[in-house]
Amino acid sequence: MNKMKITIGYLYGDLMNIYGDTGNIIALKKRAEWRGIKVDVKNISIDDKLYTSDVSSKKINIYFFGGGQDQAQELVARDLVVSSKGKSIKSEVERGVPLLAICGGYQLLGDYYKPHNGPKLPGVGLFPAYTVASHDRMIGNIIIESMFGKLVGFENHSGKTYLKKGALPLGMVVKGFGNNREDQTEGCIYKNAVGTYMHGSLLPKNPKLADWLLKKALEVKYGGKIELEPLNDTLELQAQSSAIRKFG
Ligand code: GLN
Repeated sequence: MNKMKITIGYLYGDLMNIYGDTGNIIALKKRAEWRGIKVDVKNISIDDKLYTSDVSSKKINIYFFGGGQDQAQELVARDLVVSSKGKSIKSEVERGVPLLAICGGYQLLGDYYKPHNGPKLPGVGLFPAYTVASHDRMIGNIIIESMFGKLVGFENHSGKTYLKKGALPLGMVVKGFGNNREDQTEGCIYKNAVGTYMHGSLLPKNPKLADWLLKKALEVKYGGKIELEPLNDTLELQAQSSAIRKFG
């Protein structure tokens, strides 16, 4: 894998990056570099151009979109529309490019996010879901059962996300609140895009999900099936199992 290279597009990292979300970028970068894969991280914020049809070296291979407060979400929602970055991201996900969006970022990639004050913020329409702010703040450690096995994280949101008919949740809540504290779903998975309320950072303690995103990025960029060489995940899995023991 020494000749391989990926570019991670960090969406609005200056505005949308709370509760340790940047740790997901670090986890993806290290897990790729430990396998000899070169990694570039491209910060893409308000008014920045988004390379999606440029030469392959600049093409974004994984998107990451962190969480943020309502004020930042307003700015970002507008930019996603005005700069048509939202449309580009959606078309990249449609062709299989992987994406991870956490909380506020996840909310803006659905159909809309209705904050407490002010009008609905238009979403990108990538996840078949919509979010409405509630007076119910959902804070705490969370464990879900998913296609990656158990995933552990931390949530802090007042937004309640409802999945539309046919939408696939990332997983089902074992402990915690999840999308809306009503239907036991957590997050959403669409093609190779994952939306979730799990801050923490999520990926360092959930290596299977991290590697799934890397694998998908490499397969889309280089074609064919790619198997990542296994890493020694003793520490990562100890962190995960201690969270499950403590909060499960
Ligand atoms: N402002 C949104 C909410 O409270 C998102 C918060 C976040 O990203 N943690 O639901």
